[in-house]
Amino acid sequence: MSFVDSLLKHSPKKLSILLVDKRAAPGGHWNDAYGFVTLHQPARNYGVESSKLEAATAHPELLASRAEVLAYYKTVLEGWQAAGHDVRFVGGASFDFEAGAYTAADATTAVAAGTVVDARYTENDLPLHTPPKFAFDASKIDVVPPNELPARAENGRSRYCVVGAGKTGQDAMLYLREKMGVAVESLAWVVPTDPWITARDPPAPQRQITCMEFLAAALDAHAAAGAPAGAADDAAFLQRGFASLEAAGKVYRLDGAAAPTKFMDATLNGREVGVLKGCAPSVVRRGRLASIDGSGALTFADGSTFDLPWADAAATTTFVHCTAGAFDFGASAAEAKRPIWSADGKRITVQEIFQFPGFCFNGAVIAWLECQPALAPDEKNARCEQPPPGGGDAAAAPTPSGLLGALGRGHPLLVSLRNLRRWYATPGMGEWLHGLRLFSLTMNGYTLDEGKALIAKVHDGLVAAGIEK
Ligand SMILES: Cc1cc2nc3c(=O)[nH]c(=O)nc-3n(C[C@H](O)[C@H](O)[C@H](O)COP(=O)(O)OP(=O)(O)OC[C@H]3O[C@@H](n4cnc5c(N)ncnc54)[C@H](O)[C@@H]3O)c2cc1C
Repeated sequence: MSFVDSLLKHSPKKLSILLVDKRAAPGGHWNDAYGFVTLHQPARNYGVESSKLEAATAHPELLASRAEVLAYYKTVLEGWQAAGHDVRFVGGASFDFEAGAYTAADATTAVAAGTVVDARYTENDLPLHTPPKFAFDASKIDVVPPNELPARAENGRSRYCVVGAGKTGQDAMLYLREKMGVAVESLAWVVPTDPWITARDPPAPQRQITCMEFLAAALDAHAAAGAPAGAADDAAFLQRGFASLEAAGKVYRLDGAAAPTKFMDATLNGREVGVLKGCAPSVVRRGRLASIDGSGALTFADGSTFDLPWADAAATTTFVHCTAGAFDFGASAAEAKRPIWSADGKRITVQEIFQFPGFCFNGAVIAWLECQPALAPDEKNARCEQPPPGGGDAAAAPTPSGLLGALGRGHPLLVSLRNLRRWYATPGMGEWLHGLRLFSLTMNGYTLDEGKALIAKVHDGLVAAGIEK
């Protein structure tokens, strides 16, 4: 939706667009998200370029609910059509990229498109559709996605074991405590790895940390530590950055004694973190859960076992599956990474070219570049470097798994920095970015000159630290 919106806004040509989606309505994963989900990051930074989402939400902190996000995307689609754009949405239809055709209700329709845009590569994995990453016997153990929690309030099971500590696990715990009123003694929370959590409410006048500001903070912390040599090979570089941000109130952790090893930009305010900290007695920190046996006992990847602290665990416990890993991108993970533009420019594959926050931002940037007639496909690709696939030099956070490591040259943060430098060097692009609601530096109030100055400072600092060339 973000790609299409920016394409319609900036294309020099009149376009005909067919949007095909397996889901019945626009809005992607939000159609199948748990009912109590909201955005966890500001609505003013989410959606499409030409329509504000923040105007459509009544939620505190302007975090849109699932219903508000879905209504927004419906309105965006209708708005394009009302403005006279030739856009058609075909829902409930699966597109076959080999055949160039979609199938809906058993009928297959060939599509003669000049350009095919593949926006599947960042499709989110949801607990509703992705099997739990632990084994269990479904005839004995009740495992549900968080979508079912509201209905579970009436099923007689009074105890809950939440598995997973990403944003979905955090949301499930908050819902159980705050909306369902479940006592901490009746909860177990399997926290496989502790995450750094972005503060939505950093102390005034500070703003929510974004990827380029994170690099600047990490460099400052590096300098304050005496600029130790070999920082690129040292996981301490990123961790020092997080520690300094924690001291500044810009990131949280669940437990002061537990060192976070993961960062996926899950975002909470201090009150929510306080509720989760209050769940400390229920936390089980033994790494990844491997299986739940027929009695409800837990076995972990390291072979250790844990009995839930109540009787009749199998019969009285609902296990909440929050292990999907939204950004594992399971549906396309096995497919080879491709350049964004094919050599002939007739296939565009939307992928991540800039870090947090802002998946929607990636679609808008790729569309804006597509609309530059002076740029050939290879020149567009040259402005959209991607992290190398499968680790290696890129084996550092935030990888798809989000585990924190060293800041190697292929790290997505450095790839993002290099891309932004290229965009600032592209005529007209910096001006566009600093008027774009989806760009994180624009969200945080940076003018074009301030953005360029920040990026120059970060680049120079990384070169001096021996991390960037
Ligand atoms: C619970 C949750 C909360 C989030 N909150 C935020 C937030 O606050 N701020 C933020 O910036 N980001 C947030 N994100 C991330 C962000 O919303 C998503 O990463 C982004 O919307 C992904 O959009 P997408 O179009 O790439 O993927 P999706 O929304 O997953 O859409 C992909 C679509 O492709 C369709 N599809 C796949 N294959 C085919 C095929 N062959 N034929 C037809 N259709 C196909 C699927 O049906 C799906 O609808 C959140 C993610 C989750 C899971």
